[in-house]
Amino acid sequence: MEYQPMELPFGRESLEPHMSAETLSFHYDKHHFAYAGKLNTLVDEADRVDVIELINKARADGNIPVEQNASQLYNHDFFWKSLSGEGQAPSAELLAKIEAAFGSLDDFKAQFKAAALGVMGSGWVWLVADGDELKIVTTGAAETVAGTNLKPLLTLDVWEHAYYIDYRNRRPDFTDAFLEHLANWSFAEAQLAA
Ligand code: FE
Repeated sequence: MEYQPMELPFGRESLEPHMSAETLSFHYDKHHFAYAGKLNTLVDEADRVDVIELINKARADGNIPVEQNASQLYNHDFFWKSLSGEGQAPSAELLAKIEAAFGSLDDFKAQFKAAALGVMGSGWVWLVADGDELKIVTTGAAETVAGTNLKPLLTLDVWEHAYYIDYRNRRPDFTDAFLEHLANWSFAEAQLAA
């Protein structure tokens, strides 16, 4: 088997105007495929296990290139699943959990945005379940929460390649677009139930 990105779960234009087809063509076709391609050069065919298993093995072995490329393969798959062009809102059940954890949906958005702006350089912002509790965590560069005791529900890629075509340097505007228009709450809820 070859490692490869998942198929995009939406049409290239379906996230516009919040994320352009041009951004997707660079981000998915160039960046995401590059991580998978690199991983295939690093891992012998016989050693190509499930990506989370591979991440955990690379962590245990201290194999940083494999850990980073496998994590980026996973993180981007999870990012595409975290996006929707439908303009969703969280269900009543998920909203209650968000309110319990963060105060209100607006408080959640403010905390998520602060976390996104707090990532120095490249990284990821995650809404996760830590047991029964929802939390916002960040990972730097190619790090991932996959394979940890945190269950990811949504993620936002805050590498510049995720937003520079559409937003130039304006990470705050990109984060707002995600929170207000693109977050796939039905995916988050499915992860919570999984
Ligand atoms: Fe990315």
